[in-house]
Amino acid sequence: MKDIMTPTFSELGLPATITDGLAAAGFETPTPIQAQAIPHQLKGRDILGIAQTGSGKTAAFGLPIIAGLLAMGGRPKPMTTRALILAPTRELAVQIEESLRKFAGANRIATVLVLGGMSRANQVNKLAKGVDVTIATPGRLQDLIEDGKLKLNETRWFVLDEADRMLDMGFIAPVKAIARAIGPNRQTALFSATMAPEVAELTKSLLKDPVRVEASAPATTVTTLDQRVILAGSKAKRGVLNTLLADPELKRVILFTRTKHGADRVTKNLAIDGHDAAAIHGNKSQNARQAALKGFASGQVRILVATDIAARGIDVPGISHVINYELPDEAENYVHRIGRTARNGASGFAITLCDGTERSKLRDVEKLIRRTLPVTGDLQAANDTGVTPGTVNEARPDRPRNERPMRVGQNSGRPGGNGRPGGSGRPGAKPGQHRADGAPRQNFAGLAPEAKAWWSKLDGEAKAAEAPRGTAAKVKGRWDKRQKDVARTKRDTAA
Ligand code: AMP
Repeated sequence: MKDIMTPTFSELGLPATITDGLAAAGFETPTPIQAQAIPHQLKGRDILGIAQTGSGKTAAFGLPIIAGLLAMGGRPKPMTTRALILAPTRELAVQIEESLRKFAGANRIATVLVLGGMSRANQVNKLAKGVDVTIATPGRLQDLIEDGKLKLNETRWFVLDEADRMLDMGFIAPVKAIARAIGPNRQTALFSATMAPEVAELTKSLLKDPVRVEASAPATTVTTLDQRVILAGSKAKRGVLNTLLADPELKRVILFTRTKHGADRVTKNLAIDGHDAAAIHGNKSQNARQAALKGFASGQVRILVATDIAARGIDVPGISHVINYELPDEAENYVHRIGRTARNGASGFAITLCDGTERSKLRDVEKLIRRTLPVTGDLQAANDTGVTPGTVNEARPDRPRNERPMRVGQNSGRPGGNGRPGGSGRPGAKPGQHRADGAPRQNFAGLAPEAKAWWSKLDGEAKAAEAPRGTAAKVKGRWDKRQKDVARTKRDTAA
């Protein structure tokens, strides 16, 4: 039954030629950002959208452009493009093109991807005939404009997607030059996950009297996303990861590292440890990146190892877990990372492995998302990078008591033992409420039942009582068996 508060796509002003195909593509009701942006865009207004991947922003700017192109009719002139969409990464550009084709349905629109790392000649040939929509990363586009292969004088729609990322990547000068080349008679939409001062500055120079539309960040609104931090020293992370991966509930996992080198190292170790993993980052060829994405989307590859930049815009449905093998340098990337899971109301888990050197980054993340994240794990294990016992706890005076760091397996048979008011995290708690190094215990209070069951599996003795009986033993059994298999393989290989 239709919710009377939510408009339909036709009520937003889109023509039947488009809306008929949308339902078939699974788009029944507009997302909030679509409901806010589409009517204004159809009227020709500039849009400032604060939204990120997962909000439905591609359709928010894409549908009005397709509607406009259909209304215009005719063919684009040679070497021109009627609409130009700039994206910071190749992956995002590819996904935007796929989405536009889906939105256009049976209506014919000529699109071209103008990206580095792909055949320039093909792009030049397509542009020579004239296109409806060009989806581009700034570098290659500027190159083709300077070479006279594309003119922007006929460009009516200009979209800047993920503007914050574009600025982070140093594209400010090309973006401004491209905007100038289009000229003032354009309609512009700028989307950004955040309103950093540089984005606000760019907004002022590019947009004319824009309508501001906003979708709240998935990180703060999606209640089906369960976030946890596991304390683990850098040397212990590989073991923790293997323990996590022993659980078949981690069906489709995206794992983030801070650097390309880190992504390669983790991918190699995952292969050695018997897991199907593929890496995606800027040093990989476009073909290798597409192959990795394809394998991951089809389920052949269980774990996609990615850097922040490469992962922007990746929209693979059904990602069950996001693992932050390392905390990102910039807190905002945490929000982008965890937005890969728990999409469109599905549930998901985000697990962050944090060592002693990463505590300040964790605090930055918590400040940004305005939440204290529950911490689990063994403080001792985090100490292999030199954290002194208890420092994690002491360093977090802001942490609510029932969410303080805890030790795995301390409170035998009594999970959530510190769940009562004024729990064991406070100074001077009763003996037995802390482990020897001062870290208080696990607390499962306040978690959704399924999250509770899953997380409790991670926590030694505590999990045995929270999850169905025997689950912990099964996970441990699988892990022990894996270790034996690995040891046997190593022996056999050495022999
Ligand atoms: P985006 O934020 O544009 O990357 O979109 C995120 C995901 O949501 C994509 O898989 C879209 O196909 C999907 N999506 C966008 N809008 C809708 C809608 N109105 N109904 C259902 N799915 C949607």
